[in-house]
Amino acid sequence: MIEINTAKRVEVIDITLPIEKALEKNDREDGLCLVFSLHTTTAVIINEAESGVMQDITNLLSELAPAGKGYLHDRTDGNAHAHLQAALLGNSLVIPVKAKKPVLGTWQRILFLELDGPRRRRIEVEMISA
Ligand code: ZN
Repeated sequence: MIEINTAKRVEVIDITLPIEKALEKNDREDGLCLVFSLHTTTAVIINEAESGVMQDITNLLSELAPAGKGYLHDRTDGNAHAHLQAALLGNSLVIPVKAKKPVLGTWQRILFLELDGPRRRRIEVEMISA
């Protein structure tokens, strides 16, 4: 389990390093790593951790599901847009692991998206191996 404190309303956080540390501590060498966010207004994606592309991604989410558009869930707690943005991306990833390291392409990083922060967030990291 990884726990992070997000700092902004909307934020993209590179969680590759804490996941690598969790994998190093695990007994298993090879297999698959499940990264699973335990929240309904966050997402996890694989992409490039370049500030421009990270801003482009959150800008696109704001265009696709802008805040305050009269969503039904806004009658409950006013964060329907964050739920919808999270639903578009998904809350889990499966990443191959070899020799206790995630197998990632040159520019690939594991990114956590805070869509309704700031909050304390928990991400389950589970190794699956034969
Ligand atoms: Zn809500």
